[in-house]
Formats: sequence, structure tokens, C-alpha cells
Amino acid sequence: MKKNLMLLGISVLFGCGTSSKSNQSSSQLNEEKIVDPVEYANTITSDELKEMLYVYASDEFEGRNTGENGQKLAVEYLKKQYKAIDVATPLGNDDYFQEVPLEKQGVAEAKISVNGTPFSSFEDHIVLRSSGKTNLSVDDIVYVGYGIHADNYSDYNGIDVKGKIVLAKAGEPKDEAGNYVTSGSQENTKWSYGRQSLSSKRDAARDQGAKGLIFMDNNLFQRYAPYYQRQAAAGVSGRLSLKSNEPEMMMLMINANMGKAIYSKIEEDSKPTVLNTKMDISVENTAEQVMSENVVAFIEGSEHPNEIIVISAHLDHEGVKNGEIYNGADDDGSGTVAIVEIAEAFKMAEKAGNGPKRSILFLHVTGEEKGLLGSRHYTDNDPVFPLENTVANLNIDMIGRTDPKRKEGERNYVYLIGSDKLSTELHEISEEVNSKYCNVELDYTYNDKNDPNRFYYRSDHYNFAKNNVPVIFYFNGTHDDYHRPSDTADKIEYDLLENRARLVFHTAWELANRSDRITVDKTFE
Ligand SMILES: [Zn+2]
Repeated sequence: MKKNLMLLGISVLFGCGTSSKSNQSSSQLNEEKIVDPVEYANTITSDELKEMLYVYASDEFEGRNTGENGQKLAVEYLKKQYKAIDVATPLGNDDYFQEVPLEKQGVAEAKISVNGTPFSSFEDHIVLRSSGKTNLSVDDIVYVGYGIHADNYSDYNGIDVKGKIVLAKAGEPKDEAGNYVTSGSQENTKWSYGRQSLSSKRDAARDQGAKGLIFMDNNLFQRYAPYYQRQAAAGVSGRLSLKSNEPEMMMLMINANMGKAIYSKIEEDSKPTVLNTKMDISVENTAEQVMSENVVAFIEGSEHPNEIIVISAHLDHEGVKNGEIYNGADDDGSGTVAIVEIAEAFKMAEKAGNGPKRSILFLHVTGEEKGLLGSRHYTDNDPVFPLENTVANLNIDMIGRTDPKRKEGERNYVYLIGSDKLSTELHEISEEVNSKYCNVELDYTYNDKNDPNRFYYRSDHYNFAKNNVPVIFYFNGTHDDYHRPSDTADKIEYDLLENRARLVFHTAWELANRSDRITVDKTFE
């Protein structure tokens, strides 16, 4: 992290970092001092980014898999960098780590009998979710037909399922015209079938207050059961999730054989009704505790310290698979080292008496590859600063490469996603700052809500956006090395990384220093 001020700004290829078009000579006449951010932006250099990334994406870090040794090395490395550049932690006591408690679910097996007849794990039922130990004997299961609860159609009308186990079946009914009842068209919906119907019906049961869901879906059962059985036999533990303080609703999937044993008319009848079938259910779920951490660093605003700009990137990657290290240099080593350089630039400004007026949180989140876990922990469980005081989130995930789908020579670009979704002002600022300082081609190809890639929902900014915090997601697109062991530091285009990091810096600078906080004029959808 050594710097030589004499060498700054020599290797500039693009717009970012060349002298500002703003006129410095007139600034002395203004009451308020106008500070040119360019000299600080110029401290973000490809050489320093490269030096850090060759360490951060090295084999020593073992692909930074959440909760494992490589991820621990990564957070220690980041802490060391922040201490070296003198950027403090908001947590105090030299503690740069926000703990993110996770658990790794084991594959649970259940003992279940229906009216005294036992049914077998993996042949008739699988446990999709449960927490801890469950021992139940019930004779008031509530049958809720298809288990749909939509605005224009509900299987929960007129029936109370609070604290009850509910039984639902797969599918979505059609009306007389052959249209699905919730869409009113031939188009299938999130209730109709497949994985999405499973989570939709689970959420509906949970929202209605059920303590458990038994879901009959013969097709999904045939697909899931062998997989669960193999995992159980191999003693492989399942997915990582955020450790929640509330017990999770129990969820079982069953086949049609067992469904008919619980309710003989399940296939032809879909009216909600309370069944007098007696079921004994015993599930023991083993979950291994896994501790992981987000890294947080902070520069306090000089005028509006309670208004926070969050700059984020995920610190984790995919670890080691089949003996191969997934170094994740672009994903998201590039965003990670960019943030450290941005922090250093703000710190140099602060030391020169030009610190940001609003506060800036540098947030490195864990568990992104496991389902945006670290950012969700931050926003949903433990925001270090209240979300209502959070002005914007600039999230960086992959800014060191070029998308092979782009025309040759058109490499000075970045995909922006989300900038106009919640705050028109944010979008305008982003555009203005770019044309004033950077001249990167801002490409909105993936900004369309109907884009099949759904990138707006797929990186950590999502957890801020869903809370109506305006976001910009900076992204270079995928490439052949995406999520492969070949995503290595030697393939990064450091001039592009430098330029894009400077763009994020300039945007953050403007958000932090403009007189009014940006306004939110739309809501999340
Ligand atoms: Zn990523």
C-alpha cells in the first residue's frame, strides 16, 4: 500500500482521473470550498489494485469459501489493509468483523406414521426443513387444497391454520376457460408447479401462521428423494443458511401414496377442511454451527455523520472443489480490492482536510455465493447503521474483465444495474459524474426488470434495494472463467479495474458531499 505521490496519474488511459472539467480558479470566489476529487481519485491505481489482487486471489486463500480457512485469511487480510491505511472500524476496539452466524443443515430423517402405519424416509417422505427436534402427535391437520394464497384466489379463506400442521398438494387449478386461476391466462404462475411453487406455498403457509407444511408433489418428490437419500447416506451436510433465532417452520414433502393415506380424497377434493387423521411425526435435525464474518470499515462524515453511503463487495468465493481452487479474482476479488483503494482515497482526502460530509461504510460481505447471506445478515438482522439513514448502496461485483459478447475494442464500459429503480436523482448523479470525470460507457443492458438473468436480484445490493435503499450495481458481465478455477488474477485487465473503481469513487464522493441527501421517488419491485 505504499504510495509515491510523484508518480500519480501518469498511466491514465481513459477519462477517470484526467483533470476535471470544473474550473478551479473560480472556486476561491465561492463561499464554500469546492474540492476537486480528481487528485484523490488518482490515488486509485492499477498497480496497487494488482498488488493486492495477486495476494487476495492467490492459492493461499483457497478460494475464500464461507466459514472455511481461506475465508478467515481473507478477512484478516482486509483488516490488515484497513489498519495500514488508517481507516477505522465502526464497531470500535479494533474489531473490523461483524459476526455472521450461519448453520449448515444436515439431512434430516423423519419417523412418521399415519393412523399407526409407518411410512419410510426417502420412499414416501423427505424433510425439506426443520429446526432442532420435533416430536408431534396430531389429529387436527388442516387440508388447504393447493395451498395457494394470492390476491384473487386463496385456499386459506375461512379456515384458521394458526399453530397447525397444514397439508397441501401440488399444482394450480384452472377456471372453466382453461386459464390458471391466479393469472387468468394460460401463463403459468409461481404457484403452478416446480421449485418456485414449493417456496411460494411454504411462504403462504408460514404467513398464515402454520407451524408445519406437508406438501404432496409426486413429480418433485421423484426428483428430490434420490438426491436427499444420497446425501444422507454420504453423511454430507447440506446448504449453509443464516442462523435464525426463530424456529423454522417444518416442511415435509410426500408422495401421492402417503398423501392418500393422510386424506383419501386429496386428489379429487380441494376444499379446505380439518382432517381427523392421526399422525405421529418425529424429526431430529442436526445442524452444524458455522461462524463467518463481514468486514466493516468506516470514515465518519464531517457534516452529516448520521447519513451513510455504503460501498460493498463480497469477500467470499467458491472455495476448493475436486481439488481445484476457485480463486475468484474477478468474482469478487476485483470489487474487494477496489473498495480498499476507494477507502484509501477518501482517507487521503480526509487527512488533507477534505473528508466526506456524509459517512462512508466500506462493507465486505461474506456468504454471497451461498445466497447473499452476509448482506442479508447486515440488512435484516444487524444493520450497523439504521437503514433509514442509509443514503445509497454502491455494490461492486466483478469489474476487472470484459464481457466477450461485447464488440472488440469496446472495452471501456461497465454494466450498471438498478441506478434508476428507486431514485431518479441517483441515476442522474451517476450519469453526470461519469460524463464529468470518467467517460466510461454506462451500459444498461441488464437493467431491464424482465431481463432473464435477473442480475438486479442476484448480488448483495438486492438486500438494500428491497429495503428501498437506492443502489447501483457495477458489473462487467460474465465470461468463460466465471465460477471456474480459471478466474485468476493474471486475467484481470487492471486499467479497466482502475477506471471503474475511480468511477465508483467519484459517484460516492458526489453522494457524500452534495448539499442535500438524494431522494427516493420509487419503491422496490
Ligand atoms: Zn460475485
